[in-house]
Amino acid sequence: MTSVIRVIHPLVDHHLCVVRDAKTKPSEFRAAIGRLAMFLGVRATEDLQTEAVNIRTPLADAPSRRLAVTIGVVPILRAGLGMVDPLMVLLPDSQVWHLGLYRNEETAEPISYYDKLPPGGAPDVALVLDPMLATGGSIELAVRRLRSWGVPDIRVVSIIASQQGIDRIAKLGDDVRIFVAAIDPVLDERSYIVPGLGDAGDRIFDTPRS
Ligand code: URA
Repeated sequence: MTSVIRVIHPLVDHHLCVVRDAKTKPSEFRAAIGRLAMFLGVRATEDLQTEAVNIRTPLADAPSRRLAVTIGVVPILRAGLGMVDPLMVLLPDSQVWHLGLYRNEETAEPISYYDKLPPGGAPDVALVLDPMLATGGSIELAVRRLRSWGVPDIRVVSIIASQQGIDRIAKLGDDVRIFVAAIDPVLDERSYIVPGLGDAGDRIFDTPRS
């Protein structure tokens, strides 16, 4: 069953104000997306499996725990790229697997244009990064693809989700977890989240379209 975890923290609220504000300039927008991704990433990894190890410090043995799973960070191109660096700060030994999906502007359905997942070798845990979970189409496609690759544990990390997108993922009946900073009520006629923050990719990369 799909579960949705909204990360509640005063700093998450604060950085959400920054990314939602239409007046925020791209450099500040990027930085705030990164900070939010860090908060979400910490929460999305808090129950990762660890194993007991004995570490030798300069002074003595220290019974310790270290990560016992392989992690794949999976940004959905292009906006997901804005969340990769903070996740790699948290998980420096993880792999990064890009999935390129673009939206057919008429149907708002995703079309895959980049997918280099090899046969086999799937990580134990995939963290799917997409700042905006709007219709849920891209995330649905990514979840299906990662399952077919053989990923047992899929966690979606999004800054803002729409209720409609969450409902779509829930209908898959898949055991996926969705970590978000906010859930917004509606999509507009172009399938943008309202109030949302606009086009995340354009704001991260400063590529406004008229
Ligand atoms: N993608 C975005 O960048 N923003 C939205 O609101 C929806 C999809």
